[in-house]
Amino acid sequence: NKTTTSNFIKNIVIQDLAEGKHKEIITRFPPEPNGYLHIGHAKSIVLNFELAEQFNGKTNLRFDDTNPTKEDTEYVKSIKEDVQWLGFEWDNLYFASDYFEEMYNFAIRLIKKGKAFVCDLSAEEIKEYRGTLKEPGKESPYRNRSVEENLQLFQAMREGKFKDGEKVLRARIDMTSPNLNMRDPVLYRIVHASHHNTGDKWCIYPMYDYAHPLEDAIEGVTHSICTMEFEDHRPLYDWVIQECETESQPKQIEFARLNLTNTVMSKRKLKQLVDEKIVDGWDDPRIPTIAGLRRRGYTPEAIRNFCREIGVAKSHSVVDEQMLEHFIREDLNAKAPRTMAVLNPLKVVITNYPENQIEMLEAENNPDDEKMGTRQIPFSKEIYIEQEDFMENPPKKYFRLFPGNEVRLKHAYFIKCNEVIKDDHGDIIELRCTYDPETKSGTGFTGRKVKGTLHWVDATQALPATFRLFEPLILDEKQEEGESFLDQINPNSLQILQGFVEPDMKDAEPQDKFQLFRHGYFNVDPKYTTKEQLVFNRIVSLKSSFKI
Ligand code: ATP
Ligand code: MG
Ligand code: MG
Repeated sequence: NKTTTSNFIKNIVIQDLAEGKHKEIITRFPPEPNGYLHIGHAKSIVLNFELAEQFNGKTNLRFDDTNPTKEDTEYVKSIKEDVQWLGFEWDNLYFASDYFEEMYNFAIRLIKKGKAFVCDLSAEEIKEYRGTLKEPGKESPYRNRSVEENLQLFQAMREGKFKDGEKVLRARIDMTSPNLNMRDPVLYRIVHASHHNTGDKWCIYPMYDYAHPLEDAIEGVTHSICTMEFEDHRPLYDWVIQECETESQPKQIEFARLNLTNTVMSKRKLKQLVDEKIVDGWDDPRIPTIAGLRRRGYTPEAIRNFCREIGVAKSHSVVDEQMLEHFIREDLNAKAPRTMAVLNPLKVVITNYPENQIEMLEAENNPDDEKMGTRQIPFSKEIYIEQEDFMENPPKKYFRLFPGNEVRLKHAYFIKCNEVIKDDHGDIIELRCTYDPETKSGTGFTGRKVKGTLHWVDATQALPATFRLFEPLILDEKQEEGESFLDQINPNSLQILQGFVEPDMKDAEPQDKFQLFRHGYFNVDPKYTTKEQLVFNRIVSLKSSFKI
């Protein structure tokens, strides 16, 4: 149960409420609309929304859209969809860009207090002046401009009197601080670019470290949860809140970001994969975007359970992707109807079965759940089995089909292989078998036992289908110093097969999920499935050695 798991952030909230610091807690999920959400964001979404929910608080979805050049309304739309699909409803929807005027006014307040100044140093010079961890920084020659001059220049910056990079507004804190973030950080920069929300209204844009605490304060956020990289920025966060004298005082709390094996999880890298067409868009089933996981066939329940299980801590860790797979298996084991599909077909002719006869066999949709009902599967003289399920010269302990051997066809009869038909190249193209009517499934036949059970489909009735099988997109083992993640792309990450499914799959809809006997869990692909052709994505295979 989600409400019973404890974590250090929850304990902070409990204490703050007990001390009467807040009547109600407010959290926020603050994505920058510069890409699609990924499973790492899901961790933050689950954490923020469920934390508020447990204490009857509120959660805002806030677009942290303070950088005009990378942001786009396409991303705004996808982010809203993904949060909702994950099962969460925000209390308020906000755009940080709607606070530009307020942020500007806070900057005026800082200037008037002598806490901010307009600086003419270039970006490189600012960096040079900042110093290092070992050396104190040097003060900017513009640091002691008068309040009057600063107000005039900042106003002129806003009015577009200067070019990009010509001037910045900086906080006036301490160039000798051991924390580099406190050495007169930049608060505003000039960017002459159109913004997805404010258009050309602004040509100065607030920096993250200045904007974020103000966004939180303006919304009355009580607990501003972010990832560990911002721990060293917290003194600046607190400085902004204190010096701007905001009405409410949010508290920043950091936790470790989610990392997963065998994949990439930064928007910058994901965008590169999409832009360079290495993957099939932001919803490629091989990438850990929410859209990709959805198209692969992951359910919101599985993702939420995964996020709860990995927990919230401060120490860095990499989670095995198999843990994510564990949760989709668990969810679909209960929900997904069973069916049979042949991915690499080999024709079998049952020589003693009557010509032109089709018999309907009954099969349960989920052996663990009677309520899921049964379906009818046609059986006739010609069927398909998997190529892998036949060997002409099998090794010891091969219990599938080979000349002279008998196996069980799931839900049907025992068949025995008598003859192997080959083409001119010597490739096997057909098997001739006989069936034993006595062995029909469900009749309680116990006369003799066979060791192999094969899945199959009826060759005359089955529907053609495409199967997309995946391997990890990134091979972690190969990582070497200085290598780009693009050098670690797995060339075999996508395999496409043409096979067959049971005829009653004609009613399958995009995003329907099935357990294909022996092959794993599959999702009907929403992008490529048409009325004529079903396309399946393998979500995950059936078994794993992974234990949690
Ligand atoms: P990326 O590094 O992938 O670009 P980001 O942190 O820049 O991610 P934002 O849009 O700023 O992306 O993220 C919104 C929220 O999601 C932030 O609060 C951020 O801390 C959180 N978040 C992003 N990535 C992860 C992750 N891997 N694990 C946990 N939380 C994350
Ligand atoms: Mg960010
Ligand atoms: Mg980022």
